[in-house]
Amino acid sequence: MTSPADLLARDRAVAWHPFTQAATAPAPLPVVAAQGAWLHLADGRRLLDAISSWWTVLHGHAHPAITAAIARQAATLDHVLFAGCTHPPAVAVAERLVALAPPGLTRVFFSDDGSTAVEVALKMAFQAAANRAEPARRAFVAFEHGYHGDTVGAMSLGDPGDFSGPFRPLLLPVERVPTDDLAPLADVLARRGPEIAAVVIEPMVQGAGGMRFMTPDFLRGVADLTRRAGALLVADEVMTGFGRTGRCFAVEHAGVAPDLMCVAKGLTGGVLPLAATLATDAVYQAFLGPDTRRAFLHGHSFTANPIACAAALASLELLPAALADAARIQAFYAARLPPLAAHPAVASVRWLGAIGVVQLAEDADYFGSDLGPRLRDALLARGVLARPLGPVLYTMPPLGITDAELAALYDAIEAALDDLPPPHASR
Ligand code: PLP
Repeated sequence: MTSPADLLARDRAVAWHPFTQAATAPAPLPVVAAQGAWLHLADGRRLLDAISSWWTVLHGHAHPAITAAIARQAATLDHVLFAGCTHPPAVAVAERLVALAPPGLTRVFFSDDGSTAVEVALKMAFQAAANRAEPARRAFVAFEHGYHGDTVGAMSLGDPGDFSGPFRPLLLPVERVPTDDLAPLADVLARRGPEIAAVVIEPMVQGAGGMRFMTPDFLRGVADLTRRAGALLVADEVMTGFGRTGRCFAVEHAGVAPDLMCVAKGLTGGVLPLAATLATDAVYQAFLGPDTRRAFLHGHSFTANPIACAAALASLELLPAALADAARIQAFYAARLPPLAAHPAVASVRWLGAIGVVQLAEDADYFGSDLGPRLRDALLARGVLARPLGPVLYTMPPLGITDAELAALYDAIEAALDDLPPPHASR
């Protein structure tokens, strides 16, 4: 057994962590086990995982049904390429996804994570236009404060900020519009409609950009305008999918049926990397023909990995319970968050499904604010793992979290807020 200090020393020598300035970051947390809503550290502490380990873990860590499915599948068929081969878990997951998805999404293309699912959607939209002899459709429309991943295409869609800054010369052509007004989107589509391959949106909740909510009316308006412009609508449900917003998919809040839909994170219950891009038959048909070059010539080594698919199947079996849990968590927020809005450190609160948001300052700059790191530390000291987005403190716990754990989580948040000097300097 390595000691926590030894593990951290070895980590420091060889590991390179995501989204981390190693020169200034505190030492990483040495996590050795996880169960339910809890992470267990090498030094004996346990932390409540208030963010489902980057919005992935859906039901809870180490869910026995998923763990057993993984073990069974690993002993049966661990991996096989998905070009020219197929296997029962992949076909079953595709069938389940088509059954769960909004009407019209009848094809499932597997990949590995949220970024690759979005990259696939972009390439499909682009090539579908070319295959249909509409080569002018080369640009994309995305939304202010959006985030869609870190590969070059997905990064191009994201709000240009500190994340994509160094890569600006590499980015794809993207028109960016706000989420609180349809007029700019209508204007872009009126001017450039025949040049737009797809409009890409995080439906109902923009995640990494600050857990920003939009109205169902706005989402319906986006869908209508996109359809009228002949462009494809891509719903990025990577964060919102599988019950996080209280519905299986967030587009259901608005009754919108996209042409392409990206899912990842919670697909396997959040325990193995697997993603999917769902497409309509019309998109699929655009790739058929005698010429191989019309096909979607894209894939990854681990496309439709059988073990990940088995985990996904087991997770999807648990969805009815997960949706009931999301409703329970939403009811908890509805009772607990409004009184918190009166706290001197809090600017506003909001919630949707299992996503609860405590906003400490309106429109504060993401990196310019020191509130995020201070709150994170204050919560760590109280046994909670959170990653506030600047002044936006949010909770998105595994849906199996108990009522007692939820209450303890918000007790810790209130105690951490009490420690901030009110009124906060950046308000
Ligand atoms: N799309 C959305 C809406 C996301 O929130 C994320 C990640 O947070 C991604 C795409 C990228 O997913 P991944 O980190 O799995 O590549």
